[in-house]
Amino acid sequence: MSSHPYLSIVIPVHNEEESLEELYRRLTGALDKLGKTYEIIFTNDGSKDRSGEMLKELHERRPSQIRVIEFNGNFGQHMAIMAGFERVRGQIVITMDADLQNPPEDIGKLVAAMEAGHDVVNTHREGRQDTWWRLTVSRWHNKVRAWMMPKLVMEDEGCMLRAYSREIVDLMVSTGEATTFIPALALSYATNPTEVGVGHASRAAGESSYSFYGLIRYNFDLITGFSLFPLQVFTLLGMLVSLGSFAFVVFLFLRRIIVGPEVEGVFTLFAILFFLIGIVLLGLGVTGEYIGRIYQEVRKRPRFIVRHVLEEKN
Ligand code: UDP
Ligand code: MG
Repeated sequence: MSSHPYLSIVIPVHNEEESLEELYRRLTGALDKLGKTYEIIFTNDGSKDRSGEMLKELHERRPSQIRVIEFNGNFGQHMAIMAGFERVRGQIVITMDADLQNPPEDIGKLVAAMEAGHDVVNTHREGRQDTWWRLTVSRWHNKVRAWMMPKLVMEDEGCMLRAYSREIVDLMVSTGEATTFIPALALSYATNPTEVGVGHASRAAGESSYSFYGLIRYNFDLITGFSLFPLQVFTLLGMLVSLGSFAFVVFLFLRRIIVGPEVEGVFTLFAILFFLIGIVLLGLGVTGEYIGRIYQEVRKRPRFIVRHVLEEKN
């Protein structure tokens, strides 16, 4: 097998012991059928189950094709993919999930789109199989994202079965950000992206690594990482509220002169005050999200730590 394969498949793994064997069987089956040279890079993102040993065993089965990056802890799905990106040897790079929610049989479709000259192939999930609350959150999220970040043209940013050219992958690696959202980052560098539909299955085994809170954090990362929209909204809102308050002060002042001192309406004043305090707190929170990112970047701690890599030297 050549040390410069045509395809690199990058797969983050977090507690997927129940899926890995089936993934290996279906993925290698689909890739062998495609007839292109390939490598598969798994990143074990701090799994607490047997995923680590299983990946080692998969590497021993096909040492020239299967490479395993072992993290020193849990650094998140996107960092796991980034670690794979740092080491890819192929020309076309494909990311996918380990839980078989993305069908490996659709990789051929992505490769065809890349060969047609695109540098990024986005995907949307056809007949998406997820819990109702995930579907609802996702639908709203995609709407808000399209509104806040009109430049990110994609129907469904949650589907990770995607393809990128090696140039785009190298650019993504060079950014070195501590938190990121790979599909959005890729699109910011793409010159000729396209989108295709791929299948989606419900999780056959194991469970999602994302809790509801995890998903909220994940979306903040996406928004603060790629848009200043929330800050700009607060500047505008702040201006409107100041104008309104000024008009209100003038109104109260005139009443003080014309009508004289009044004590009624204290509760109304409190309601208005609470509302304004709420807005201020929200604004502080939004600002804090950005400051948190700046803090992470200036600390310059490693964004992930690799314990060891199982691979054949090229
Ligand atoms: N994953 C990871 N690190 C994490 C969370 C998830 O490497 O901290 C991997 C996981 O093993 C899977 C992919 O990222 O291959 C998507 O995760 P999951 O299926 O839990 O997310 P969902 O499909 O529910 O969005
Ligand atoms: Mg999944």
